[in-house]
Amino acid sequence: MSLLLVRNARIFAPEPLGTRHLLLGGGRILWIGTDPLELPSALGSETIDLEGRRLIPGLIDGHVHVTGGGGEAGFRTRVPPLGISRFTRAGITTVVGLLGTDDVARGPRELLATLYALRDEGLSAYGYAGGYHVPPTTLTGSIRGDLVFVDALIGVGEIAVSDHRSSQPTLDELLRIASEAHVAGLMTGKAGILHLHLGDGARGLDLVRRALDGSELPARVFHPTHVNRRKALFEEALALAARGSTIDITAFPVEDGEDAWSAADALLRHLDSDAPDTHVTVSSDAGGCLPCFDADGHVSHMDVGDAGALLATLAELVARGVPLERALPAFTSNPARLLRLGAKGRITVGADADLVALDEAGMAHDVIAGGVMHVRAGRQVRAGTFEPAA
Ligand SMILES: [Zn+2]
Repeated sequence: MSLLLVRNARIFAPEPLGTRHLLLGGGRILWIGTDPLELPSALGSETIDLEGRRLIPGLIDGHVHVTGGGGEAGFRTRVPPLGISRFTRAGITTVVGLLGTDDVARGPRELLATLYALRDEGLSAYGYAGGYHVPPTTLTGSIRGDLVFVDALIGVGEIAVSDHRSSQPTLDELLRIASEAHVAGLMTGKAGILHLHLGDGARGLDLVRRALDGSELPARVFHPTHVNRRKALFEEALALAARGSTIDITAFPVEDGEDAWSAADALLRHLDSDAPDTHVTVSSDAGGCLPCFDADGHVSHMDVGDAGALLATLAELVARGVPLERALPAFTSNPARLLRLGAKGRITVGADADLVALDEAGMAHDVIAGGVMHVRAGRQVRAGTFEPAA
């Protein structure tokens, strides 16, 4: 077990704790204190000095196409898998991987193999059973079976609604899937949520409202994402959050004049609304395909969702005057609570040693995942098996 002593960290836990020192060991935070700790040299500990930099919990990205997404414009548009450094250099230490439009050429086996590879390389990695379509693709034959018996699977998604690429699920189908997730969550203590991809369709969140009105399922089970893609949809999402659902904002690029809110604008609107501050998360959609269309409506080129969008959004919020401790929960403690990852999302003794020190610009200066340094002084010091050596 290697020990790492972190000196002079200005901690945001997310709440500000002031400047402290931390001792990390066995992947956990062992100690936080004000007086410098002197350890016997026989312990062979390492020390880093953050010189007063802000230290935040590692970001939790709850919507990542770890296998690569896409495939919407032919086989050559299938996005390749993402290496671990794409996450760690972006301050992300926990991901939830999922399948999207393509849940037929890709499947749960590939998703799980990719998640377990990321775990081997030092990331905390979980996944959702299923993909866009109904009936959901599963490993064991049922959503309930997948969640109960497969360690890494903690919910179901991204089931698509209000989208031309969806299976056009009916209310009964949606209720059946949500109930499977909920019951499996009860049996295992896992999140047991239904993560819903929202398309541009005018029906918006109608199906979710009818599911809540017409069943005994708690609102927490429904976790709609991409809710900032249309401004009217976001108003529906705020109303849903006030009823007890947690809504997920996607940090995708938004053009001037587009009928969408950027992630920073959307989070500000949520924080200013009546919906509880705890009921919002922000995710990157990293590895997902962002098709760009030419004037004739043909796909001209493909962009790929970028994990760096999370820290960029956080930095933008801080630059716009939002206190770090107010913006931070949507990227850390809120997803940890919703996903029932009890040791994640906070800086406290006993929590997992997933930590990010920010530079002046709010980018990752140092990143520690599971007590191990991945980025030091802005330089990648650990890389994935098939990535260029650090
Ligand atoms: Zn999606």
